[in-house]
Amino acid sequence: MAGCCTLCDREVFDVLSHFMEPDPRAGQPKALGEPFECARRVTYQLDNGSIMEITFCDSCDVKQFEKIMAICTAATIAASKVGSPVQAYIVERYILGILYNLSWREIIAEEVRRAAELRMLA
Ligand SMILES: [Zn+2]
Repeated sequence: MAGCCTLCDREVFDVLSHFMEPDPRAGQPKALGEPFECARRVTYQLDNGSIMEITFCDSCDVKQFEKIMAICTAATIAASKVGSPVQAYIVERYILGILYNLSWREIIAEEVRRAAELRMLA
């Protein structure tokens, strides 16, 4: 689910609103606010050359490649049934390794710094 750890389902972002009935995603996070201190974003290299970015909490083991791939594949298939864009590139793929394991707060702080730099150049 968006805003939650892929392995343990703990919320790692501030959830601003949830989907409501009759949406099939009722109860799931709809709009996200700031990430919590524990939020991590891990970038994986897949065997077909593409990359996959996944959110976790800082307590879960992000090297459980087979388990993580199985969860992502199941989520992709479920999302396709409610009309979400299908990330077909991850189905039947496997993870070669971890490219980055970053704090979501650092990622957002860096984006804010870059946006400020671009404004100074303009
Ligand atoms: Zn977790």
